[in-house]
Amino acid sequence: MRKTPWIVVTLLGSLLLTGGCSTNMATGQRQLNMIGTSQEVAMGSEAAPQFTKSYGGAVPSDSIRSYVNELGMKLAKVSERPDLPWEFTIVDSSVLNAFALPGGKVFISRGLAVKLTSEAQLAGVLGHEVGHVTAQHIGQQMTQALIIQGLGIGLAVAGEQTDNDLLKVLGVGTTVGGGVYMLKFGRDQESQADMLGVRYMTKLGYNPTAQLQVMNVLAQASKGPRPPEFLSTHPLPQTRIRRLEKLIKEKYPDYNNLEKYPFYHQRYEQRMLRELARLPKAKHTGEQSQKPQAAYR
Ligand SMILES: [Zn+2]
Repeated sequence: MRKTPWIVVTLLGSLLLTGGCSTNMATGQRQLNMIGTSQEVAMGSEAAPQFTKSYGGAVPSDSIRSYVNELGMKLAKVSERPDLPWEFTIVDSSVLNAFALPGGKVFISRGLAVKLTSEAQLAGVLGHEVGHVTAQHIGQQMTQALIIQGLGIGLAVAGEQTDNDLLKVLGVGTTVGGGVYMLKFGRDQESQADMLGVRYMTKLGYNPTAQLQVMNVLAQASKGPRPPEFLSTHPLPQTRIRRLEKLIKEKYPDYNNLEKYPFYHQRYEQRMLRELARLPKAKHTGEQSQKPQAAYR
């Protein structure tokens, strides 16, 4: 039996009823967004199991999984959208990536986690992804897609497509021929997510320069034979680094005060790196599947 394409119906409903212009709580900007919170949550919950599976499943270690989820939850709770059903998953993949689905489902790969050296850096990565969710970047991208693909939506309404097909059409991410399709964020969205990530991590007392260190980790890895997958969905232009440097200098002039803004290297070593080293090799290496494709450029 074919599933009712409820997403289509609800999206069209909000499109017609609300017009979708509102002020985002995290960024303070007016934005056109036709994806309401309940739709975000439904889409994220629907796509999350597929995402986890296509990246080798969750890492087979209770202690690592709870370490990541606990830190993520702390960041989410100091964000502007603490009440979403947040969930932070570390996937058993050696690719370097982190990503977020609408509604608060956030992922980091084991391949990226192993390159980090402090809890503050992990907070930077997760905080950045939380920022994409609180700023509703995915909803905005999808709204644009909805406008562009009005015809496709019309067909979907006619009952020819399932929710799953629609998620595919909208590029939120699902497995297609072994590759994962993901939205590619814009440069300004990346900078905004960086800024929000720094906001959340410093609220918890983490050193904001850890966010810059993460960019160096990614920049270094991009010189190797396999550029980090992260960079195909989260572009890293020089402007992003410069904007972040400026923000840190202006807003956190005492960033060098390590008592006020610690990194927690040791705790990361104990709770992440040592534990990861004990596990068998990552299930997913990304070598068989095609490179993730960005749906929009
Ligand atoms: Zn990003």
